[in-house]
Amino acid sequence: MQETKLIQISNLFVEYKTRKGILGGEKIIHAVNGVSLDIQKGEILAIAGESGCGKSTLAKAIIRLEPVKSGQIFFDNENILSLNKEKLKMFRKHAQIVFQNPYASLNPKMKIFDILKEPLQINSDYSNEKITEIVKEKIKLVGLDENCLDLYPHEFSGGQRQRIAIARALVLEPEFILADEPVSALDVSIQAQVINLLKELKEKYNLTFLLITHDMSVIRYLADRVAIMYLGEIIETGKTEDIFTSPFHPYTKALLSSVPQFNKSGKKIILKGDLPSPANLPEGCKFHTRCPYVMEKCKTCTPNENGITHKVKCFLFE
Ligand code: SF4
Repeated sequence: MQETKLIQISNLFVEYKTRKGILGGEKIIHAVNGVSLDIQKGEILAIAGESGCGKSTLAKAIIRLEPVKSGQIFFDNENILSLNKEKLKMFRKHAQIVFQNPYASLNPKMKIFDILKEPLQINSDYSNEKITEIVKEKIKLVGLDENCLDLYPHEFSGGQRQRIAIARALVLEPEFILADEPVSALDVSIQAQVINLLKELKEKYNLTFLLITHDMSVIRYLADRVAIMYLGEIIETGKTEDIFTSPFHPYTKALLSSVPQFNKSGKKIILKGDLPSPANLPEGCKFHTRCPYVMEKCKTCTPNENGITHKVKCFLFE
C-alpha cells in the first residue's frame, strides 16, 4: 500500500521561559530540539519517553496549541505555521485532541448533548436538525446510548466519559486525532475498552492518530510506528514490531527493560542519574550523561540520524 504523509515536521524547535521564582530568574526551557518526523495517513504513531522529555509539547505544537520557535509543520501539504485566522479555523476542524483526564475535560455544567453540539455550532453552518443527527450518530459510534445525551458528565464512569470525549473529537469528522495519555487516568479494568475503541475507529475510518503515552504496553498494542523522545529530540523511530523486538538506541533498550513483559533477558538496565533539565541541555549526544556505552566523542559531538525505516541517532550505529 502506498504511504501518504499527512504531517511532515522538519527541524522543529519549541522553547519557553519559566517564571521568575524566589530562588532564581527566568530560565529558557528547550522543550523540543530539532525534531523532524512524518506521520502517514491512517497510521497510529506513538511518541514515548520519560515525563519531561518534551512529547506533550511537541504534540501541542503540531496542532498549534504551543508556539513554535522555528522549523516547519506541513499538514496535507499546507504549512500550518503560516495559516491566517480563517484557515486556522479550518485546520482545527481537521485536527482534534482527546485529553488525558476525562474528569477535567468535560464541562460539568453542560449536558452531553450540549458538549457534543458545541464544536459543530462554532465550526459549521449545519442546521439544528443536522447537528442533532451528527451528535446522535457519534455517541452511538463510541458505544453509548442516545439516552445519555440528556445527562451530565458526573453521571458517567471514567471510561464512559472518555468515550464522550472521543465522540466530541469525532463530531467534526477530523482526519487527525492527538490522543494525549488517553487511558492513563482510567482504571486498568476499563483501559482495554477505550484502547479497543481507538483501534476500531482508526481501522474503520482510516483516522490518523498521534498517541502520546509513557505506557509501553499501550504502544505495543495500538501503534503502527513509534518515535522515542529524549530531551526534546527523537532518538529512534521505527515500526512498533522492530522497536520492541530489536531496539537500537541504548535509551530505548533501557526504557523497554523497565517493563517486565518486554524484557527478554530479564536484566533491567539501570540508568545513571535523572533526566537532565531541559533548561541546561548537555553538549554532544544529549544522552551521554546517562549512557552505559558513552565514548569521548559522545560528550562533544552530536550523532546524525541513520537508517531508512528504522532510524537511530547514536554513534554506535554510524
Ligand atoms: Fe551513548 Fe554515545 Fe550512542 Fe549517545 S551516541 S547513545 S552517548 S553511545
